[in-house]
Amino acid sequence: MITARNYIDGQWQGEATREVRSPGNLDQVVGTTPRSAASDVQEAVEAARRAKDAWRRMGGVDRGNILYKVAGILEAHSDELGQLAAQEMGKPIGEARGEAARATAIFRYYAGEGFRAVGDVIPAANPRTLQYTLRVPLGVVGIVTPWNFPIAIPAWKMAPALIYGNTVVLKPAEWASLTAYRMIELIAPAFPAGVLNLVLGQGSSAGEALIQHPDVAGISFTGSGEVGQHIAQVAVRRGAKYQLEMGGKNPVIVLDDADLNLTLDLTVSGAMRSAGQKCTATSRVIVTRGIKDRFTEALVNRVRTLRQGDPLDPTTYLGPVVSAPQQEQILSLIRQGEQEGGRILVGGGPADVTPRGYYVAPTVFDGIQSGMTIGQEEIFGPVIGLIQADNVEDAINLANDVRYGLSASVFTQNLKNALDFVEGIEVGLVRVNEETAGVELQAPFGGMKASSSHSREQGRAAVEFYTHTKTVAIRPE
Ligand code: NAP
Ligand code: MG
Repeated sequence: MITARNYIDGQWQGEATREVRSPGNLDQVVGTTPRSAASDVQEAVEAARRAKDAWRRMGGVDRGNILYKVAGILEAHSDELGQLAAQEMGKPIGEARGEAARATAIFRYYAGEGFRAVGDVIPAANPRTLQYTLRVPLGVVGIVTPWNFPIAIPAWKMAPALIYGNTVVLKPAEWASLTAYRMIELIAPAFPAGVLNLVLGQGSSAGEALIQHPDVAGISFTGSGEVGQHIAQVAVRRGAKYQLEMGGKNPVIVLDDADLNLTLDLTVSGAMRSAGQKCTATSRVIVTRGIKDRFTEALVNRVRTLRQGDPLDPTTYLGPVVSAPQQEQILSLIRQGEQEGGRILVGGGPADVTPRGYYVAPTVFDGIQSGMTIGQEEIFGPVIGLIQADNVEDAINLANDVRYGLSASVFTQNLKNALDFVEGIEVGLVRVNEETAGVELQAPFGGMKASSSHSREQGRAAVEFYTHTKTVAIRPE
């Protein structure tokens, strides 16, 4: 049982009033969390503001050494954090532990950034003038995260924010409060008071107070398009910098010459792991005529064999979805898909699993058309929609026929088809013979169209959001 609290200015505070039950086992109470008020957020932002100058002046090398220490702490507790995430939000234990290990790697990567160059020397018209750029922190950064990667997403925002000299207030998704609390409890003592603050609670109150606060100079958000748009409007109005990573409707294209086994493994993994609750999850599978029947039969057979159950059982392939409202939303989209003429080949309803939880059976729909709701809307559940295409060109057009543009894959052994796809597809993450999910921390991450504010996270790309550029010219005499 975990009793989560806020961490503000180096102090633990807040009364835990909300009970958290495991979505994979509703009889299990995992802990309790506070629901913070706007005044808690204000205290946290003020603490972060007071801490920011000393943190900036400390310099990259010393901050880097702190981040190395943090990486070591996370590594030592990675199994424990993974287990807690699996209990709190229902991700299978193997994936959850992998996510915790990812957080270690992220802190280690950004620790190294503290030792690297923060600007360029640029020739000036007067050759005696020293002209150069400097990367400087924004100040206080507000971080708002979703529940589906409860360890990795806070890590991939906090680590770059901190290494480039910002102080942080984190407001994680309420459905991931316990995991965020435990992570901060582990790593916060490594930082001076006020540098890293945690406020737990609802988006509509604690989250809203954070994005509205005039001293929050930058907001980094991952979550739904609806909340993202609202954050963008608030940020523009008060002149804050913002970064949004939002939803996807990610396609896999299967061409006649695809390697069938590889395609099956990576399509099922992309669609069904984490019960489809990844922004990069495979949601549409666009298949050309020549392979459609063979692929569909093999896909249905594979999906029937997936082990669904308790996320703490290491043999589980997919667990529950995160909550009752998410389960209801997914089931309602499935019903709508049927009403619009989609044919369910497997699954199509709640799954009967012991222990009791919010389980949705892995589902495959055939006969999906681009114009249907389930051909357009993010489902965020274990649901694949099969769409038939005439040829590679038709498949790419269908793939692009949504408002999202996060990730897309093609399965082919033909180099020309692969290159046509790379050129024609409108997404930020372009994958050939790879699953739509599963990107690497040292490479830029982000989407096009409605999936993103067109900024990028992770790798070296993070410096663009978490710093301002100062251009300096010094004439020596
Ligand atoms: P969400 O409902 O948009 O919530 C995201 C975060 O925003 C939560 O912490 C939420 O708090 C908070 N929030 C809600 N209203 C707010 C407000 N008015 N002001 C400030 N903060 C507010 O998203 P979610 O349901 O947690 O996550 C699922 C979505 O995230 C999906 O659409 C998925 O595609 C997207 N996602 C995108 C990526 C990516 O990198 N592109 C990665 C993962 C997930 P509460 O917890 O209290 O609601
Ligand atoms: Mg939500």
